[in-house]
Amino acid sequence: MRPGPSLLKEEQLPGLRTGGVTIYYSKEGLERIRKEAEEYLKKREEEARGHNYELEDGTRVLCIYCRNAFFHKGTALLNTRGMTFLGLDWLNESAITLICTKCGFIHWFAKEVKQV
Ligand SMILES: [Zn+2]
Repeated sequence: MRPGPSLLKEEQLPGLRTGGVTIYYSKEGLERIRKEAEEYLKKREEEARGHNYELEDGTRVLCIYCRNAFFHKGTALLNTRGMTFLGLDWLNESAITLICTKCGFIHWFAKEVKQV
């Protein structure tokens, strides 16, 4: 028997043919690949769905328009000249935006919001 990677010690499963090279995976190897793919897809799904956020006092952020609880977080620059004109120049130069993943409504925050 040819010595090989420990991956091959169990029964050999059908290989993947890739450009003339056949790659064999053990059950463990396939399981690991499956898990990695699952985690990757789950992460992509979560990214698409958005995340939950709450204010400093623990209030859960809900979309004021559609009551959805999932958002994409971003930052936006505030127009300092405009803010001064409006008497709001105490605001930071950047604000936090939470974009509702359902209806797209953009919520603006001058304070930190944290992902939960
Ligand atoms: Zn919404």
